[in-house]
Amino acid sequence: MNKTLLNIKNITKVYNIGDNRLDILKGINLTVEEGEFVAIMGPSGSGKSTLMHILGLLDRPTDGVYEIYGQNVLEFNDNQTAFLRSKIIGFVFQQYNLLNKMTATDNVALPMVYSGGTNRKEQAEKLLGEVGLSDRTEHKPTQLSGGQQQRVAIARALVNNPKIIFADEPTGNLSSAQSDEIMQILTDLNKKGISIILVTHEPDIAKWADRLITIKDGQVIGDTKQKEKEKIEPKPIKIEKNSSRLSFAEFAENFFSAVRAIISNKTRSVLTMLGIIIGVASIISMLALGNGAQKSLEQQITSMGTNLIYLMPGRYSVGGVAGTVVRRIYLKDVEALATNTELIKNIDANVSGSAQVVYGNKNTNTSITGATYVYQHMQNAVPQYGRFFTKNEDESLAKVCVIGTTVVKNLFGNENPVGKYIKINRKQFRVIGILPVKGAQGPRDGDDIIIVPLQTAMKRLLGTKYISTVAVEVRDGKISETETYLLKTMLERNKLTSEQADAFRIRNMSDMIKMLTTTTQTMTMLLGAVAGISLIVGGIGIMNIMLVSVSERTREIGLRKAIGATKVAVLLQFLIESSVLSLLGGILGVSLGVAISFAVSKFAGWAVYVSSFSVILSVGFSAFVGIVFGLWPAKKASELSPIEALRAD
Ligand code: ADP
Repeated sequence: MNKTLLNIKNITKVYNIGDNRLDILKGINLTVEEGEFVAIMGPSGSGKSTLMHILGLLDRPTDGVYEIYGQNVLEFNDNQTAFLRSKIIGFVFQQYNLLNKMTATDNVALPMVYSGGTNRKEQAEKLLGEVGLSDRTEHKPTQLSGGQQQRVAIARALVNNPKIIFADEPTGNLSSAQSDEIMQILTDLNKKGISIILVTHEPDIAKWADRLITIKDGQVIGDTKQKEKEKIEPKPIKIEKNSSRLSFAEFAENFFSAVRAIISNKTRSVLTMLGIIIGVASIISMLALGNGAQKSLEQQITSMGTNLIYLMPGRYSVGGVAGTVVRRIYLKDVEALATNTELIKNIDANVSGSAQVVYGNKNTNTSITGATYVYQHMQNAVPQYGRFFTKNEDESLAKVCVIGTTVVKNLFGNENPVGKYIKINRKQFRVIGILPVKGAQGPRDGDDIIIVPLQTAMKRLLGTKYISTVAVEVRDGKISETETYLLKTMLERNKLTSEQADAFRIRNMSDMIKMLTTTTQTMTMLLGAVAGISLIVGGIGIMNIMLVSVSERTREIGLRKAIGATKVAVLLQFLIESSVLSLLGGILGVSLGVAISFAVSKFAGWAVYVSSFSVILSVGFSAFVGIVFGLWPAKKASELSPIEALRAD
């Protein structure tokens, strides 16, 4: 007597469609011995396939008991069931269910990925040889005939040396010659000791089997022996759990199949990545611009010196209808202020105006600043070429000047201006130095400037007695004391009260820095918000494509589960796939973002600063979206029974 391979007791299957209860299987009892070749026959709709799916562990019965080698497999967990599908059962479908993206060899070898087999390629090729396909190993399913595809599917069912093969209408889509070939292969396998259970509605196919079970309306109505055969000595088998640890082979297979899936769906992958690329690149370049602008402004301001205070005449109200009055600052005021050397390190008085400047046949209109010799130190204006004027030259009303690079360009071209004479408002001045480059200061060109000694400017050039700005360099950061001192002294000298403090305006650099940083911060935030929106739009794109791509592959998930993949293995595959896609998109996005930033800084001359924050934020967000929306539908699919997943559109 052979050992009992499987035994089902009172198996039922009920579908509830709306309010309708459909009893598909109505209490089936069946015992199959090791080594049997059984055909299950019955009219279409009688429940044959439903029974086969339950036997093949692709579906669960509504009720009943199912034992394999005496163990109730309906109580098994996902890992144990996967082990049975992988090592004990081979399933052959009517529709073959091969993965079209893989070669015949890879299709056959796929179950070994989940069972952890070695020499997968050799084993797959050997089995393809046994089913007569040694010359088709590198063909994809679409390049094979129906009969050839079914032979590949049989080789796949055999690859883990199963104890039993379930074949659901294996010849249903084939011509009669091809059908006979398939039945011959199954018969030969049975002779080697593998039990075969076959579903068919054709008597010609059923007659190949040793035992014929007839089903009608969800019940067994006949069970006859068609042939006597030799008893086969059973080989003992232990049902164990699949190791839940993931093997390196499985990880590698998942990685390469992810890369393969990405490559074979080029358009879709590129579209998914495009969302990531655009989102990441825009965040990076926008924030780079914002941050760059802020940093360069800060630099410009600090290069002017943070311990500078400016004193300017203001307007104060005299009350009533008389309106406002302006108080002037004179040179002797500046001299008086300068006596407090405890607070004041340097003091410079400036006048400004504009003038027509001529050299040879060239002329230009530029701004003129009169300054004392300390200007060069207070304003970082020590000439890089030539020199600044001296205290002596200021006091002796010398007609010398230091000019900005824009003036040099306008008047001299490539000629060396130092030592040359130019005419400022028709008066001859000697150029003694060139100012260092300042760049744009807001809308003004900071290099379109000529600096002449203060007294020369007041008496010979602009004809003014008033100082327009006093710049004070404070000692040891005593900004507020100095401000108080300046105001108090000026009010006293003008016999004004503290109510008339508006007569003078005082500004310090930190006020300006604060004002400018808030402006640039707002700008950066605005740019960031725009980029954030594009990242979210990109994220929605990724989400969409991932959802579609995974739902599209629900069948593939069903097939992988049917041949022995655990839930975890399926999830891992999709995790790797979405990670590779997100990572690749992220890397391309970062590169593009950095490239754009540098291009902008090179061609538009804007300062850019790529922050690691923007890189982490953007790549992190896209990876998160890609992975969540790649995994979520995959998880849903992996929780379906294999047959439900296989039936999905
Ligand atoms: P057979 O293989 O004998 O042709 P099946 O086992 O495929 O029959 O189907 C038996 C019956 O079960 C059919 O009437 C079919 O409509 C019904 N059926 C199969 N699957 C489902 C399902 N998922 N939901 C509802 N009814 C189903």
